[in-house]
Amino acid sequence: MESVKEIWERVLGELQLQVSKANYTTWLKNSCGISLQENIFVIGAPNAFVAEWLTKRLYSLIKKTLTQIIGRDIDVQFIVHNKEQVQSGSLAYANQTDGGTSTRVKIDRFNPRYNFNNFIIGDCNRLAYAATVEATENPGHTYNPLFIYSSTGQGKTHLLHAIGHRAVNNGLQVAYITAEQFTTEFVLAIKQKQIEDFRDKFRPARIFLFDDMQFISDKKQTLQCFFQIFNELHNNNCQIVITADHHPKDMALLSDKLKSHLEWGLIVSIQPPDFETRLSILHAKAEEMMILISDEVLRLLAERIWENIRQLEGALIYLSAKAKLSGMELTPQTVNRLLTSTANKQDERLITQKVADYFNLSIEELSGKRRDRKTALARQIAMYLMREEGNCSFAEIGKMLGNRNHATIIHGYKKITTEMTINSKLRRQISDITERIDLNKASRKKS
Ligand code: ADP
Ligand code: MG
Repeated sequence: MESVKEIWERVLGELQLQVSKANYTTWLKNSCGISLQENIFVIGAPNAFVAEWLTKRLYSLIKKTLTQIIGRDIDVQFIVHNKEQVQSGSLAYANQTDGGTSTRVKIDRFNPRYNFNNFIIGDCNRLAYAATVEATENPGHTYNPLFIYSSTGQGKTHLLHAIGHRAVNNGLQVAYITAEQFTTEFVLAIKQKQIEDFRDKFRPARIFLFDDMQFISDKKQTLQCFFQIFNELHNNNCQIVITADHHPKDMALLSDKLKSHLEWGLIVSIQPPDFETRLSILHAKAEEMMILISDEVLRLLAERIWENIRQLEGALIYLSAKAKLSGMELTPQTVNRLLTSTANKQDERLITQKVADYFNLSIEELSGKRRDRKTALARQIAMYLMREEGNCSFAEIGKMLGNRNHATIIHGYKKITTEMTINSKLRRQISDITERIDLNKASRKKS
């Protein structure tokens, strides 16, 4: 039986004959087959724009081709998946002095695009950058462990890979693993009763890089194993660098002991990039990708896309592909039009975030199933604000708030609209939240 990868390669071969060369190169070439479970074939695209484009434009063709090749009715799903970051073998050891031959697992799997030289520094990430450089140059001495947290797309993985490259150049043994891979290996090791071997693999590391720790924050056994490895490495003065999407104190299920150990060293956050940083990043990336784009358009992009750096990159790639394929010029008008959906999604997320913060809820609680009075009110206010401030359709709002149906959203929206006419406390709450949203928007723009 063919592997998923082989099947996808055959599909690509077919598709190459059916779409234009430009379309093939831009949208399909860097895709990959990820899994086939039951009748769903999952395809990885390098970023959200490509995934969205493929879903909109090539869904039927791909479905048809896959169905023919596999010989039964297949449905297709696209996800964002960076090929370069995913290779076989999970724990990466790299050590240049011996070419890696003496280590058990030898891969140089640090993404060449993620290095210190092309990491743009701004107020949002200066401390995290300085601390990672320090941890690389003086491993185990200054901040150990170094814990970096931020929302998605702000450069955590980039910094870990940058440490990897630099440390390898300094002749050090580096182990890099994502929490997800760690879990997979751990589960396998338990099954095969090779837990000792699994733990042994980390011993030679002089620097241990652990990416996306939130992934194991609710897995008790995996956490326990991680904790043992952590302690042993720490005792041996191995430099440990961990990333996650939250501060350890906000990861509810971690034991107090692990939390306190994580606080032994330094905990730094990376904030969303400010306008100047966004603009520098866009300039640098446009140059790196050799995209001809005016300063005016880059400024517009920096104003409209503010949530994270991955989106900035994605928007640039998308715009340049659009321009190339359609021969369209990238003027502020065309760019404004092309960006609407990305920009709107960010605004919706900002509204839900601000409402959640105001009521001391998490986004999950706001969009989840809880129905106590506070949560239900907060949820209805979010519905109202997304409609009034965000101009979203009821269907979009429903999707953002935990896939609620259209009728529920209309009901919530109407309830708040009516209630506001008689309830001054509610009016005040809503105006407080709106003020916070506006403040946030204003601070995004250049003074
Ligand atoms: P995270 O791990 O925080 O989700 P990544 O490290 O994957 O984020 O970064 C997302 C994308 O943005 C990557 O392509 C990365 O190279 C780029 N990026 C993030 N921060 C910076 C920065 N300060 N300078 C240049 N590129 C950056
Ligand atoms: Mg990451």
